[in-house]
Amino acid sequence: MNPDSVQGWLCIAGLGPGDPQLVTPEVTSAIDAATDIVGYIPYVARIAPRPGLTLHASDNRVEMDRARAALQMASSGKQVVIVSSGDPGVFAMASAVFEALVGRPDWQALDIRVLPGITAMLAAAARAGAPLGHDFCAINLSDNLKPAALIEARVRAAAGADFAMAFYNPRSASRPHTFGRVLEVLRETCGPDRLITFARAVSTAEEKLLTVCLAEATPEMADMRTVVIVGNSATRRVGRFVYTPRSAL
Ligand code: SAH
Repeated sequence: MNPDSVQGWLCIAGLGPGDPQLVTPEVTSAIDAATDIVGYIPYVARIAPRPGLTLHASDNRVEMDRARAALQMASSGKQVVIVSSGDPGVFAMASAVFEALVGRPDWQALDIRVLPGITAMLAAAARAGAPLGHDFCAINLSDNLKPAALIEARVRAAAGADFAMAFYNPRSASRPHTFGRVLEVLRETCGPDRLITFARAVSTAEEKLLTVCLAEATPEMADMRTVVIVGNSATRRVGRFVYTPRSAL
């Protein structure tokens, strides 16, 4: 085929939490049709190499460069998939791509699609039972892109409104104290008996789930592969499960 006649496109796809069975057929089809895969090293490592497919793995901190490189490839006629873990719109690459479109009408005209995936909090909630069964919110605890004071204010507001909460990026070597502070705020606002679930590496061979009450929770129970779910005031245990009733009454 004359390469000039090939239409480029860009899909921003979610690979789900880890288990290949949790990758949607839509995402699998896009990967099968792609000429180029772009993403953070561990996510690109989940894609099987094959002839005709070029893998572009990059470090985590270069999201805008990665987005622009992918758009450039699509505009030169490549079929490109940017891979994220979980869902690409949840603390991941989709926003970076749209940000890169600002001021670039040529890129805005490209065939661009976001393909959803199963985000970590939903995979974790399903393992635990139904801790997100009533109103909930998701908060990214990474302070890479926002100040620590804003994180604390949002945690306080969410706890004050009695939302169940899912925390992404709870802890990393570069900011060992953030999560300890969040636990203190939670104990202040929710009391010692509130249930908290630590779900690590959900749907992989290293999966580990632990539910305790806030009084027993320690920062070491979380790491970068953990999503943390805090229940609302009605969240309770039944047998080995944790659930939040559908009614606030
Ligand atoms: N786009 C991803 C989130 C990226 S931020 C999604 O929708 O899931 C990375 C954070 O996601 C991690 O620090 C962790 O909090 C969470 N995470 C991703 N995969 C996970 C898994 N398999 N188990 C538990 N948490 C996970």
